Amino acid sequence: MSWYTERRQIDSVAPPNQIVVSTVAKKIQELTTWQARHYRFLSITDTEFEVLSLKTNASYIVNLIRMTCTCVEWQSTGIPCSHAIAVILFRKENPQTYAQAFLSLDAYCKTYEIAIFLWKPT
Ligand SMILES: [Zn+2]
Repeated sequence: MSWYTERRQIDSVAPPNQIVVSTVAKKIQELTTWQARHYRFLSITDTEFEVLSLKTNASYIVNLIRMTCTCVEWQSTGIPCSHAIAVILFRKENPQTYAQAFLSLDAYCKTYEIAIFLWKPT
C-alpha cells in the first residue's frame, strides 16, 4: 500500500508548466542544456529536419510527426533525443509535449488512482 502512496505523492507538487513525470522532465532539461551548442540543422519539410552534430559530424533525421530520429533514442525511450530537442526548441515549442503520452503526469496519476481504488477495503 505504501508503495502506491509514495508513487502518488512523488509528482503531486510538480511545477504548473510540467506535464511529464519528474524524471522525464529532468532528462529533457539535461538534454536541453547540452544540445544548444552542439547541433546545426536544416529543414527538409515543415516537420522533418536534418540535424548535424558539430562534435561528431554525424547527421540525423528528426521527424516531429512520427516522433522519430535516426539515432532511435526517441522511439525506444519515448523521450525526445537531443537532436529532436534542438529542433523543438528552434520551433519555440515545449519538448515535454513531444514525450510519449504514457510518460505524462496525467497518465501517471491515473495509473496510481486505479491502483489505490483496487486496494481499498470493502
Ligand atoms: Zn536523435
